[in-house]
Parts: sequence; structure tokens; C-alpha cells
Amino acid sequence: MMRAVQVARAKGSFEVVERPIPQTGAGMARIKVQACGVCHSDSVVKEGLFPNIAYPRVPGHEVAGVIDAVGADVADWKTGQRVGVGWHGGYCGHCDACRRGNFFACQTGQITGLSFDGGYQQYMIAPASALAMIPEQLPPVEAAPLMCAGVTTFNALRNSGARPGETVAILGLGGLGHLAVQYAAKMGFKVVGIARGKDKEPLAKKLGAKIYIDSEAANPADELLKLGGAKVILATVTAGEAMSAVEGGLAVNGTLLVVGAAPSMQVSPLWLLTGCRSVKGWYSGTSIDSQDTLAFSAGTGVRSMNETFPLEKAAEAYERMMSGKARFRVVLTMGEVAAGGD
Ligand SMILES: [Zn+2]
Ligand SMILES: [Zn+2]
Repeated sequence: MMRAVQVARAKGSFEVVERPIPQTGAGMARIKVQACGVCHSDSVVKEGLFPNIAYPRVPGHEVAGVIDAVGADVADWKTGQRVGVGWHGGYCGHCDACRRGNFFACQTGQITGLSFDGGYQQYMIAPASALAMIPEQLPPVEAAPLMCAGVTTFNALRNSGARPGETVAILGLGGLGHLAVQYAAKMGFKVVGIARGKDKEPLAKKLGAKIYIDSEAANPADELLKLGGAKVILATVTAGEAMSAVEGGLAVNGTLLVVGAAPSMQVSPLWLLTGCRSVKGWYSGTSIDSQDTLAFSAGTGVRSMNETFPLEKAAEAYERMMSGKARFRVVLTMGEVAAGGD
């Protein structure tokens, strides 16, 4: 038997339960979970925001652990390997989207902790195509948040079209933003941090921002234009108004790259068309993108700042995350000594 934290129904509370340790099937691996991040998207399961979620469901898509068993037809993974699982819960390899190389859009693609039970438990089953190798230097608590917040910002930035030396602005300095600033700096961009309030400036600078814009004290679009405009603005916030307020700071051929799930935003078509500017969304990434994120983070020293809670306190951890007060990611631990940690 093992401990798991489940949500029994939409809008239900978190329940700590005993369950049998699950068995692997073909194409699957069983992971002994060591840490699991608590992400804002876990509210999709908690509140029932997607159709057809089968309850009870164990949330969690920022998983770090060790392969404990592999099923039939799993060629490339072995027990004892340290792996992570993110939002992307695997792909089939033969649907039209996969055949075009768009594995993230797999038509039968699953979401970890939503289509199948995630990482708020001691053992989980994951499709082999969802696994990412964790490098030795990253202990589980440090690897876990990189499986969602990390890969989302890293993968968006590396696919943004910005080149080293160009101005990249990061809108928001929270769970996603504090990682995005670090990645952007390590990628060699001229990084501008944008957030509300003067008090976030020292942190933004410490994380690698060259310039900080307090959006309460000045118009962030005007400030960006004074710098020549931004080649890319990565919007990590979830407020559409904050995104609309920076669009005017895009350089010619600039892109407002959206990774924050705001319900709506306003754009100026005239501004877009007169400068060939664009607004684009970015999906986080597949398992190999996560693996690249972990390797890059291990190699460059990019780390998430985390608050940890034991698995049994998942409800408290979730509330802390939802309060927006966490500095910056919240991570559940399973009470195990880190396998490859320091
Ligand atoms: Zn997430
Ligand atoms: Zn597919």
C-alpha cells in the first residue's frame, strides 16, 4: 500500500488515502515519486474546469522520481533511472499531429494528473513517452518545478526567435517569471524585468535582469520603446490588461509571446500590422523539451526558488500556491532522501 492525495469530485477537497501500489502496463513505467510541484493548473482538477475528468483523481504534473518498474515494450528506460514527468503525458507517434512532428498536439495525447493519476502520491504510472531524464546535479525538489514552470519558460524563450544580445522582456516575476528571467539571461539576451512595485527590482537584477521596469511607476510600453523596443516580450502573468499594456513596447518584428493563461486581452491591430509585430502563444513542451530544460538548468545554475511541504499537507500547499504569496514555487516531498541530491 502507499499514500496518495486525491480529489474525489470536482470542487471536492484533497483527501489523503491509502491505495495499492499501481502496476505497470505495456509502454508504461512506474515511478517512485520523490517530489511533485504544486502548479496553478492543478486547479483544473480540483475545480473540475475540464470536461470528462474521471474522479477520484490524483493531481500533480511536476513530478520527479526514480523508475521502479517498467512494463513490456519499453525499450529505452530502466529501473533506477531518475526521471521527471510534466503536463505533457505522452504521445502516440502515429496520429496526424505526431506525423507532422507536432507531438505536443498529439490527438490522443494525455495530460499528467488529469487524464491519469499524477504525482501527489508515492508511486505513479506514466507512459514512457512522457519521461525526461533528470541530471545528477538536480535533486528532486529542484527538478520538479522545472517540469512545468521551467520547461514552459525555457522552451518558449528558445523558440522565440530572439537572438543573443537582443532585448527580451519578461512580464511578471512570479513562479514562471523568476525562472524566465534566469533562462533569458543565460541565453544571452538583454533582459528587462517588468513587474508591479519597486520592491521586486533587487530580485529581478539578482536573477539576471539588466533593466527593471516598475509598471506602477511608469508606462512599461513607453519604457521599452526608449530601449529600442523588445524583440520578445514573454508574458508570464495571467492578467490580460497587463499583457495589453506592454504590447506597445514591441520592436519592429517583435513578438508578444504568451504563456500565462489569461482569459482575454486587447491588442492593437494597427500596431501589429505597421511593424510586422505578432502575438503568439506557446505550449510548454514535450518530454524531450523537459529533458533539455533540466540539462540546461543543471549546466547553467538556473534554479527555482521553492517552498516545500510534505505530501500529507497537500491541501495547505495548494492554498499557499493559490494565495499567490509563495516565493515562488510550492513543492510536495515524499519524505525520502534525495537520490542524487546534495
Ligand atoms: Zn503546471
Ligand atoms: Zn499522436
